[in-house]
Amino acid sequence: MTRSEVLFERAVKRIPGGVNSPVRAYGAIGEAPRFIDRADGCYIYDVDGNRYIDYIDSWGPMILGHNFPAIRESVVKASEKGLSFGCATEIEVEMAEFICERIPHIDMIRMVNSGTEAVMSAVRAARGYTGRNKIIKFAGCYHGHSDAMLVSAGSGVMTSGVPDSAGVPEGCTRDTMTAVYNDLESVRTLMEQAPGEVAAVIVEPVGANMGVVPPAEGFLEGLRKLCDENGALLIFDEVITGFRLAFGGAAEYFGIRPDLVTYGKIIGAGMPVGAYGGRREIMEMVSPVGKVYQAGTLSGNPIAMAAGLTQLKYLDAHPEVYKELSEKGQMLYGGMKKILEEKEIPYRLNFIESLGCMFFTSREVVDYTSAKSADTAAFAEYFKAMLKCGVHMAPSQFEAMFLSAAHTETVIQETLDAVKKCI
Ligand SMILES: *Cc1c(COP(=O)(O)O)cnc(C)c1O
Repeated sequence: MTRSEVLFERAVKRIPGGVNSPVRAYGAIGEAPRFIDRADGCYIYDVDGNRYIDYIDSWGPMILGHNFPAIRESVVKASEKGLSFGCATEIEVEMAEFICERIPHIDMIRMVNSGTEAVMSAVRAARGYTGRNKIIKFAGCYHGHSDAMLVSAGSGVMTSGVPDSAGVPEGCTRDTMTAVYNDLESVRTLMEQAPGEVAAVIVEPVGANMGVVPPAEGFLEGLRKLCDENGALLIFDEVITGFRLAFGGAAEYFGIRPDLVTYGKIIGAGMPVGAYGGRREIMEMVSPVGKVYQAGTLSGNPIAMAAGLTQLKYLDAHPEVYKELSEKGQMLYGGMKKILEEKEIPYRLNFIESLGCMFFTSREVVDYTSAKSADTAAFAEYFKAMLKCGVHMAPSQFEAMFLSAAHTETVIQETLDAVKKCI
């Protein structure tokens, strides 16, 4: 038995499924997950001493690569002053100013501890501001595991085969309406079903929790227009796309101005951070200024802020990172696409900048239904073969591959060689 297998045997006895987040389980693969010891640059090392090229990148935060020296040093330095005060600190002000000054659609921002919390709080603020209850989300978009958002929630839920979650009372999702991604008519229909009742439309501006599904031409613009016509707010869930597609996220990349934005993942550089922000008059609804209650003992934690702010400042100061990520995306995903074409395999390859996904289906993937047409058994075989070749991907057909600045051309070529062998 490998050390990972031994650890997994111990883990399942004491942790549900042996993991602290279901996406880490190899449930769809039928093996023990690799237990990780350490990571550096684009490589991750398991407890058995195997080295893999890592395309999980902690699900996005490690956009500069693992164990980035400046971030590690900022954490060590901050920790010398104490781990948490539960009181206001200077670095929180710096973080808020830095983001608001650089991202035009954010006047004010509030730090929380996860993407889940960010979305839950943004939705509450939207409801408080509009005085309306209904939320429109899209099938296949994941917005964290708060009750109201666990409807057709994409990857993690998809792979475990449970359409929704037990333990969520019907009342909690009664005001959550589900539209079809890339289908403006479906949104219009829901708006018409509940005139004057929709508080917000929440969307992943690039679907990245049902594989990768970029927005169709005009989709995000259309959402902006429908929201304006119906007095609803537009919330971009930029937990994955924020600071990734561009520094200003998908909003900057596509040139659309959302009313509220949620962040997670990259904003904490690997520490547990989320945030929500947007128009001043909405954010001034939040306690203690306004009547929308939202709080957090560890929110804005000084160590987490040090890590996150160091990463954001680096990204802002090095815009070439985005150009390079774009080129690397073209090289990796474009290369994968070419392999499929050469081998005349009818699978689909969706990608945008540093995010990509190979769907084991011959259908064009534009929404949840088409994503679900993928052959997960075929993916599992491919995944296992890739792992043997030293490539570490998310153990699910419905997750994105995350490129980081640390993935070199050589490493990408090695990955392509592995794909050629394994597909
Ligand atoms: C990961 C994710 C979340 C949830 O963030 P957590 O930090 O895991 O709670 C929310 N929205 C999107 C788009 C995500 O990808």
